[in-house]
Amino acid sequence: MYDVRSLKAEEFIDHEEILETLEYAEANKHNKELVEEILEKARPKKTGRGVECAGLSHKDASVLLACDLPEMTEKIYSLAREIKDAFYGDRIVMFAPLYLSNYCVNKCVYCPYHMQNKEIPRKKLTQEEVRQEVIALQDMGHKRLAIEAGEDPVNNPLEYILECIKTIYSIKHKNGAIRRVNVNIAATTVENYHKLKEAGIGTYILFQETYHKESYETLHPAGPKHNYAYHTEAMDRAMEGGIDDVGLGVLFGLDKYKYEFAGLLMHAEHLEAVHGVGPHTISVPRLKRAADIDPGQFDNGIDDDTFAKIIACIRIAVPYTGMIISTRENESCREKVMKLGISQISGGSRTSVGGYAGYSAEERPHDTEQFDVSDQRSLDEVVKWLMEGGYIPSFCTACYREGRTGDRFMALCKVGQIQNCCHPNALLTLQEYLQDYASPETRKLGEELIDREILKVPDPKRREKALGYLEKIRNGERDFRF
Ligand code: SAM
Repeated sequence: MYDVRSLKAEEFIDHEEILETLEYAEANKHNKELVEEILEKARPKKTGRGVECAGLSHKDASVLLACDLPEMTEKIYSLAREIKDAFYGDRIVMFAPLYLSNYCVNKCVYCPYHMQNKEIPRKKLTQEEVRQEVIALQDMGHKRLAIEAGEDPVNNPLEYILECIKTIYSIKHKNGAIRRVNVNIAATTVENYHKLKEAGIGTYILFQETYHKESYETLHPAGPKHNYAYHTEAMDRAMEGGIDDVGLGVLFGLDKYKYEFAGLLMHAEHLEAVHGVGPHTISVPRLKRAADIDPGQFDNGIDDDTFAKIIACIRIAVPYTGMIISTRENESCREKVMKLGISQISGGSRTSVGGYAGYSAEERPHDTEQFDVSDQRSLDEVVKWLMEGGYIPSFCTACYREGRTGDRFMALCKVGQIQNCCHPNALLTLQEYLQDYASPETRKLGEELIDREILKVPDPKRREKALGYLEKIRNGERDFRF
């Protein structure tokens, strides 16, 4: 029986509820009146406190996703753009993945790290290697990392992950610093989540892969990840362990996307109902070619248009949730979906263990790569490209460092303080990047952008203060934030 508040995976992701939702969506996909009504419900509304959005239930959002009337699709895209603009503006937050270890005891059939893959060299970074990787990432200009590791209690126990986090935060190379470490590791215990929280992590990210239990079990035939309930209930344990920024995601291509979409939103509704705060981010990875993995073996791949529609519908359904896209996607796809709702992208990524230190921007080691990187541009190229497209690349990590996690971040969004807070923070961190790491062309473009954009901070006192901070950064000081 479906129960959004239940702590049992099969009750808050109830299979029958998803089937009924899909049936309802299919039956109403050409019901223009209903689609218009749903769009109206989701539209940003001015309140006494600022702009607010109600979001949508999994049922309503599934109708939007199913609707294939071209004029309605245009309206869906237009609303997604409006919501993106209201809460995220032109800012795009930058991050990079850091692969710590590819040792893994699971048998995920889509992942090259699966334990039966004898082709792939197994590698785990030593603390000295972590240091080298972090220096290389800092020298590119990164301030925010997502650490990644396979699941192996002997080779990569939690103590190893904690040690790596400590090393990462301790490195201050030239003007560099990693100010936020997000963590993407296998489902674990409340006690371990508590330790991750104590280590100062940003978001705990765990992809569900698929919400379809039967598929899940087939796709994860052995190892601890085989346990659907343990995996699906992980975010509840993470929140119990004190982590209030959690990141959801499904790996599109494994099962039917409409099923995954409904499951994902039901998961978000569950977290909101039980813990009072929804997911901080949603990632939308698509299955990619990798060593011994051919995406063609999986029947559920989605094309770029469907992918864009999913992103737009997520944006409308959960307006305050950040949305992340990785270098699994190429430049043109990234360009298309950023307008529709993506708020974070990676740049200059390597998905191999030890892929950064000792390699030039053009060179990439492939032997331990997790998947093929489609966007192979350097961080500087991505930053420049974003600015040319009218975006503001942001290296901001302020919310988490100011304690604005969980529902406190949402509150900031709702009272319309974004333009007085996130906007100047993006510009301050961009100025740091330009000063320390950018090529001359990127720097020129960026400084013109900052001079223009800083005048848009509405509160005159804030604006004055931000101008002062910018001056200080240009004179060599670092790390200012609102
Ligand atoms: N080991 C951890 C776990 O099991 O959740 C997380 C780390 S894994 C390195 C990160 C994610 O990569 C997985 O959750 C999966 O969604 C994704 N992934 C695995 N194989 C992939 C492939 N062939 N193409 C694209 N993404 C893939």
